[in-house]
Amino acid sequence: MTASRRAPPSPQTLDAIRAAVGDKGVFEGEDAAPFLSEWRERWPGEAALIVAPASTEEVAAVVKICAANNTAITPQGGNTGLVGGQIPFGDEILLSLRRMRRVREVAPLNNTMTVDAGVTLAEAQDAAAEANRLFPLSIGAEGSCQIGGVISTNAGGVHVLRYGNMRDLALGVEAVLPDGKIWNGLKRLRKDNTGYDLKQLLIGGEGTLGIVTGAVLKLFARPAEMLTAYAGLAAPANAVALLSHLQESTGGAVTAFELMARRCIDIVLKHIPDTRDPLTAAHPYYALMEFSSGQKSALRDTIEAALADALEKGLIADAMIAESKAQDEMLWRIRHSISEAINAEGLGVRHDVSVATSDIPAFLEKADAAIERLAPGARVIAFGHIGDGNVHYDVIGPEGADKHALDEVRPAIETAIYDIIDGFNGSISAEHGIGRHRRETLAKRKSAVEMKMMRAVKNALDPKGIMNPGKML
Ligand SMILES: Cc1cc2nc3c(=O)[nH]c(=O)nc-3n(C[C@H](O)[C@H](O)[C@H](O)COP(=O)(O)OP(=O)(O)OC[C@H]3O[C@@H](n4cnc5c(N)ncnc54)[C@H](O)[C@@H]3O)c2cc1C
Repeated sequence: MTASRRAPPSPQTLDAIRAAVGDKGVFEGEDAAPFLSEWRERWPGEAALIVAPASTEEVAAVVKICAANNTAITPQGGNTGLVGGQIPFGDEILLSLRRMRRVREVAPLNNTMTVDAGVTLAEAQDAAAEANRLFPLSIGAEGSCQIGGVISTNAGGVHVLRYGNMRDLALGVEAVLPDGKIWNGLKRLRKDNTGYDLKQLLIGGEGTLGIVTGAVLKLFARPAEMLTAYAGLAAPANAVALLSHLQESTGGAVTAFELMARRCIDIVLKHIPDTRDPLTAAHPYYALMEFSSGQKSALRDTIEAALADALEKGLIADAMIAESKAQDEMLWRIRHSISEAINAEGLGVRHDVSVATSDIPAFLEKADAAIERLAPGARVIAFGHIGDGNVHYDVIGPEGADKHALDEVRPAIETAIYDIIDGFNGSISAEHGIGRHRRETLAKRKSAVEMKMMRAVKNALDPKGIMNPGKML
């Protein structure tokens, strides 16, 4: 399977690339396999060669050889992307950042940290914590995904509500451009009005405009106190009202606010060991909430009072506040295991969409009605970062049905959901990106003006089209 009519790289080109990275930087035979399959095992890959340069200069040397020989490159970070963007089709070389693992600087006085692109998100969080600072990006894949990957996908996760996504959290980017030139954009500035904000082209660029090799990240004060709470509620509208109530009544202490339909809990309990139902009675929906405060204060009292008030107003039916670290971890384990449980339950039609937060109840109502019409008996598993208007709207076959039960109706389901999203002026990809998976949908759903602007940027920076062809555009 190839992305273009490009000729495969010649043996001489491959030898030159091997020489540029040395033996330690080449992965062949059995070592190649982990790079070529992804989390959902949906897009098996092939590559002409897999290399992992050890420095920005080595990345530049490889890209120069590729540019001179019209060889395509698929950049790969931690290989946790969910839309197949990191998986090559066959004629490309795969360039992994996994050997670039240096934390270059942590500067508490600037509240910044400068890291190589191959540092994992968990390592970046740990390095910040060692300097008594917080790097707030948090996603289920944080042990494996890399800073270059979270930048290239503009990752979001559970703390966007308070701290923003990677577009907000990266102050500077270093990248190797498609002609092999190094762009040093590693500024540690919060103000820089000197023309276009070029780093934003690389952020969310999915490796189509260059290879991110380093970044300056924003750090924050570490909260002195954090609490996790969990509430059962009747409907998504209650969750939207609850979020607003809590933001008002806790002085902005809400740092995460996640919605989960009851089915999420059921499949997690079924497939994920050592999990249990946090509340005694079942409820149609649940909110998982995190609160934090900069001072050791009366956070628990504030949250208890706010939740009691919510109970009285009928926004929630029941609630608990985690009493121990173990309870806290269990609540987040449930949330972070939903995707894994869905994988275990069956092949789904999965959507990662966003609308304005206040439109979530109406979106879910329309979407549920469409599924009932198109695939009676199919199970909707809806969850997500509701504070950001982001819903993971996944549909799987009826209980006990074949894994491929929805294969035939998949295109109709996707069209219906994206039509509804268009009706709300929403987004067909809130955080996972476009990759291979949504490339055709993007071309259909973005306006002609937007597609023209995106193609103009791509052609200007990558006229030979060697950077991650067949992805996004
Ligand atoms: C369990 C699980 C939970 C997840 N939760 C979330 C979530 O809450 N929020 C969220 O936003 N995402 C989430 N994701 C998706 C995924 O983790 C993110 O997209 C992550 O940012 C990908 O990082 P990575 O290093 O694994 O990149 P990869 O998967 O290796 O690559 C992703 C894309 O970025 C490009 N790329 C990677 N590194 C570079 C680089 N250095 N330079 C240029 N291009 C590059 C690749 O070509 C590809 O197009 C989740 C995934 C899993 C498996």
